[in-house]
Amino acid sequence: MKNKKIFILGMARSGYEAARLLAKDNTVFITDMKEQDNNQVETLKRLGVKIVICDDPVDYLDKSYDLLIKNPGIKYNHKTVLKANELGIKVINELELGYKYLDKNVNIIGVTGSNGKTTTVTLIHKFLEKDGRKSFLGGNIGIPLCSFVKDVKKDDFLVLEISDHQLCDMYEFKTNVSVLTNIFQVHIDFHDSFERYKEMKKRIFNNMTSKDIGIINFDNNEAMSITRDIKCTKYYFSLKDKKKAFIEDDALYYDGKRIINCDDIKLQGMHNYENIMAAICAVKVYGVSDESIKDVLREFNGVEHRIEYVNTIDGVDYYNDSKSTNCESTKTALKSFNKPTLLILGGLDRKHSFYDLDEEIKNVTYIACYGETKARIKEYCNEKGISCGIFENLREATISCYEKSNYGDVVLLSPACASWDQYKSFEERGNEFKDLVNELKGK
Ligand code: ADP
Repeated sequence: MKNKKIFILGMARSGYEAARLLAKDNTVFITDMKEQDNNQVETLKRLGVKIVICDDPVDYLDKSYDLLIKNPGIKYNHKTVLKANELGIKVINELELGYKYLDKNVNIIGVTGSNGKTTTVTLIHKFLEKDGRKSFLGGNIGIPLCSFVKDVKKDDFLVLEISDHQLCDMYEFKTNVSVLTNIFQVHIDFHDSFERYKEMKKRIFNNMTSKDIGIINFDNNEAMSITRDIKCTKYYFSLKDKKKAFIEDDALYYDGKRIINCDDIKLQGMHNYENIMAAICAVKVYGVSDESIKDVLREFNGVEHRIEYVNTIDGVDYYNDSKSTNCESTKTALKSFNKPTLLILGGLDRKHSFYDLDEEIKNVTYIACYGETKARIKEYCNEKGISCGIFENLREATISCYEKSNYGDVVLLSPACASWDQYKSFEERGNEFKDLVNELKGK
């Protein structure tokens, strides 16, 4: 990218890194609705980037621009995006931009899906590193590609978590190996329809040929149906059928060969066996050894905020699943425990239905709810006859679970909602919960 005039819509981490990468050789304008971190603003100014903070940047965009880089969180029908379309200005995102800077011989592994992305990319990265390969981890996991793209060299591995939001504005981007963990009915508010959401997910297989590998969850009907006509070679993993990777007699198999006994795997839950199988399929493309895989699986306890064990107080186990931002992942968390469970629910209201929890709610003895969705959750509990407490915040909700729980119970924060009504991120929410549990433990 040289001598181009570029409009960056939305700063955050990815816009900032895109601007930094582009500033030396291009004219860069960046805009956001919210005040940004002072140090970052100063850095960009020093690089000659023009920054405007305003609610409606549409008038700043004119036909002199060559390219618009859109933050993945901004919708496709945002006024400024529509204007770019009208003016014939190409709209891409930070990942597509980073891709342009990569050597053609980097081994790119991309992972998408409704749930399990972060766990799967983390496993892939760990398997590769354990096997002595040079691997970089980034993307939607919170590390923008543009922040490290210049360090990635020929033959290195690049493991990218890719969200459906990111797939919206990708065109040339191509992986060598793509994983689709699963597809559930989530994020419909962003895409306006389930059809559009699925169409975006399918783009992870864009530009692939039969030399490339697509790894797909055989047990997930939606994932199977959208990948029927993709061009790459397909590997399937399954909890039920003998596919490329499968489970049998309490052991995990790849290509018909036993890799590890389930008892030796530290990660818990059937959903994690799916993530592990997907990750094994991805690294086996590059011949990673069984030993390296086994070493990681014997040690790796999971990613923070994903059904993370926090502490035990008076015989009650506390788990932090703050990453659960939809009912599907709360169901997954509930499935992982066979004990009476006190569940903390609530957060941003995306108008999603809590009735989706029905199938897994049988062990739940009490629900503490808070946040924008609290009244709808209370309504759900009343209808189901589940005891429910309604609170202003997570602190009060947690304390009520602490008071109501009995020896042998589980207290689970798995809110089935995004955190943004009260927090900056699910990490902030999870950390507050963990601090509070540890505070209660010390009482
Ligand atoms: P993502 O990055 O896609 O949000 P994570 O690996 O961070 O996924 O996991 C988030 C939550 O999703 C977990 O706490 C768990 O409840 C659920 N989850 C993870 N993997 C799967 C899977 N393979 N199938 C269903 N649910 C899953």
